[in-house]
Amino acid sequence: PASLLPPGTHNVRMAMDASPKPIVAAIHGSALGGGLEMALACHYRVAAPGTQLGLPEVKRGLLPGGGGTQRLPRLVGVKTALRMIVEGEQIDTARAKAIGLVDEIIEGDLRAGALAFARKVAAAGGAHPVMSRKAATIEDGAAFFKAEGTRIEKEKRGLEAPLACLACVEAATRLPFDEGIEFERARFRAILEGVQSKALRHIFFAEREAARIPGIADDAPTRPIRKVGVLGAGTMGGGIAMSLANAGIPVVLLETKQEALDKGLATIRKNYEGSLKKGKLTQATLDERMALITPTLGYAAFTEVDLAIEAVFESMEVKQQVFEALDAVMKPGAILASNTSALDLDAIAAYTKRPQDVIGLHFFSPANVMRLLEVVRGAQTAPDVLATAMALAKRIKKIAVVSGVCDGFIGNRILARYGMAANDVLNRGASPQQIDAALQKFGFAMGIFRVGDLAGLDIGWAGRKRRAAAAVGKDAGKDFSVFADRLCEAGRYGQKTGAGWYRYEAGKREPIPDPAVDEMLTRYRSDKGYTTPRKFSDAEIVERCMYAMVNEGARILEQGIAQRASDIDIVYLNGYGFPLQRGGPMLYADQVGLPNVVRALKRIAAEPGADAAFWTPAPLLARLAEEGKPFN
Ligand code: NAD
Repeated sequence: PASLLPPGTHNVRMAMDASPKPIVAAIHGSALGGGLEMALACHYRVAAPGTQLGLPEVKRGLLPGGGGTQRLPRLVGVKTALRMIVEGEQIDTARAKAIGLVDEIIEGDLRAGALAFARKVAAAGGAHPVMSRKAATIEDGAAFFKAEGTRIEKEKRGLEAPLACLACVEAATRLPFDEGIEFERARFRAILEGVQSKALRHIFFAEREAARIPGIADDAPTRPIRKVGVLGAGTMGGGIAMSLANAGIPVVLLETKQEALDKGLATIRKNYEGSLKKGKLTQATLDERMALITPTLGYAAFTEVDLAIEAVFESMEVKQQVFEALDAVMKPGAILASNTSALDLDAIAAYTKRPQDVIGLHFFSPANVMRLLEVVRGAQTAPDVLATAMALAKRIKKIAVVSGVCDGFIGNRILARYGMAANDVLNRGASPQQIDAALQKFGFAMGIFRVGDLAGLDIGWAGRKRRAAAAVGKDAGKDFSVFADRLCEAGRYGQKTGAGWYRYEAGKREPIPDPAVDEMLTRYRSDKGYTTPRKFSDAEIVERCMYAMVNEGARILEQGIAQRASDIDIVYLNGYGFPLQRGGPMLYADQVGLPNVVRALKRIAAEPGADAAFWTPAPLLARLAEEGKPFN
C-alpha cells in the first residue's frame, strides 16, 4: 500500500517526461516490470547484450501499473505491446532493438557507451521523444480488440489479469495520456485487491517455499549425480530417462527383454521427433539426447551410476527383485529410488541393506512433460539423500514437493477423495455432464469424468478389482465398486473405445452426453438404493468436491505427510490441473474461510445416508477454524 502513496514513481516519471535534457536509460541484467516502466519514461534506452526486458506482471495476476500499459503501445506499437503485456513475455536485447524498445545495443562498457549515445542525441538537438505526448494508434482498433478479447478469453480461461491488460492497452488507443494513466491505475488497484492476484502471488512464494525442508539447510551437502540408471522403459521409465537426458545427464536404461528395450527406445525417439517436427528441437540436440541414453539388459552398468530410479511393474515381488539386485551391485553412497505410486516405500527400503539411501521419486505422466515431482521421504531416508533429490529436481526442471510415506502420497491420496465426492454427487442425482460443467466453470480445464475418459476407465476398474480380491480384515467382502465399473463392463473404457462417461465420434475428442449412460445410471441408483435422486446446484457440486479434497489435505498436514499447506497447493497446481487463479485447494479454503468450510462439511455429514466419517471435519481443520487461523 505504501507504494501507492504520493509522491511516487509516477511523479518521477512525469518529471522525467518534462525534462528538457535528454534522459537515457542504460540497461543491463533484467529490466522487468517496474524497472522497464521507469526506462519507458526515459527519452531513450540503450542496453547491453543479454539483457532481459518485459512486463511480467500478468503472471502474478496483475497488470503493469506504472504507466507500462500506456507508454509501451506508444513506443513499440499496439499489437507488439499487447502481446508483451498480455503474455508477460520477456525479450532479449536483439529483439528489443528490432521492435524499437531499445535505441542502441552497447557492446563493451555500458556506461561509456550510454554517455556517448547521450552526447550524440543532445548534440543533434531538436525535440526528444516523449511517450506521454505521443498517440498510440491502430487501424481497425475495434475489430482488433474484439478479436483479441475472444482469443484471450479462450486461451486464459477464467483469468482476470490478461483481460484487464487488454482493457488498459485499448484505453491507451482511445484516451489522452493522463486519462489512460488514471484508467490503468484504477484497474491496477482493483486487481491488486482481488482473490486471483492473491492466489497467483501465493503460488510464486509457495514454489520457492516447497524447496525448503525444515532441519536441512538450503546449502546442505548433496551427493554428486553424474550418471543415472533407470529401470523399466515403459510409460514412466521412458519419460524419466528423457527428463534426465534433457538436462544433459547420462542415463543407463534397463529392461529385462530386448523387445521391451527396443520398444521403449523407439517411443523416446518418436517423442523427440515430435518436438523436432514442431520446431522445438534441432536434429543435433535430438542426436545428443539419444546418445545420452544407453540401453542395457543387465545390471553391470549399474556399478557406475550415482542414482537408480526404478519404474518397473507396480508389484511388490518385482520391486523386491529389483532392489535386491541394485543393493548387490551399486557402489556405496549411491541412491536407490522408486517411482512407485502406491506401494510402501519403507517396505521397499527394507529389501536393501541401506535403507538410508532409499527414497521415492514419484513422477507424473507424461514424466518428460509434467513439472511435478513428489519426493517421498522414507522413515530412514538420510537428509543428504533428500537434499540431493531436491537438487536433482531443480536440475531437471521439476517442482519437487516432499511427501511422507502413505497410500497415494499427497496427490493421489487427495485425488481419491475428490473422486469419491464426485461419485457421491453422481449417485445422488447429478449427471456426469453437470458435474464436469460445474468443475470447469470453477476453472478446471476438464471435469473429473472427462479426465477419466481421457486416461482410460479400465485402469481404475482393474485397481478396484485387485483391491477387492486382496481385501482382508475389516475390508474383507467390502464393496469397492463404483458406477464406472458398469461402464467398463459394457466395454466403455473412455476415448480409446469411443465411449465412456460420454460418447465420442470417430477421431474426435469432443465429449457428447450419452442417454445410454443416463439409463445405466438410473438403473444403478435404484440398485444401490438411491431411490429419490435430488438436484444439485453447481455451487453444491464444487463445494463437495473441493471440501472433500481440503479435508483430506488437513489430515495429510496433521499427520506430517506434507510439510506445509502450500506444498499441497503446489502438488495440485502442477500435477492435477487445479485452476491457477484459485491458488490450490488449501488457499481456496483459506479464501472461502475455514469456518465456512467446517460448517458446510458438518451440514453434509448430517445428511441422511451420508458417510459421516468421510465428511466430518479433520481435527486440524476444526481447530484452525475455531482459532480463526488459515492453513497458509
Ligand atoms: P509400464 O508397464 O508402462 O512399464 C513398466 C516397464 O517395466 C515395462 O516396460 C516392463 O517391461 C519393465 N519391467 C518389468 N519388470 C522389470 C524388471 N524386473 N527389470 C526391468 N524392467 C522391468 O508401467 P508404468 O506406467 O511406466 O509404471 C511404472 C511404475 O511407475 C509403477 O510402479 C507405477 O505405479 C509407477 N507410476 C506410474 C504412473 C503412470 O501414470 N503410469 C505414474 C506414476 C508412477
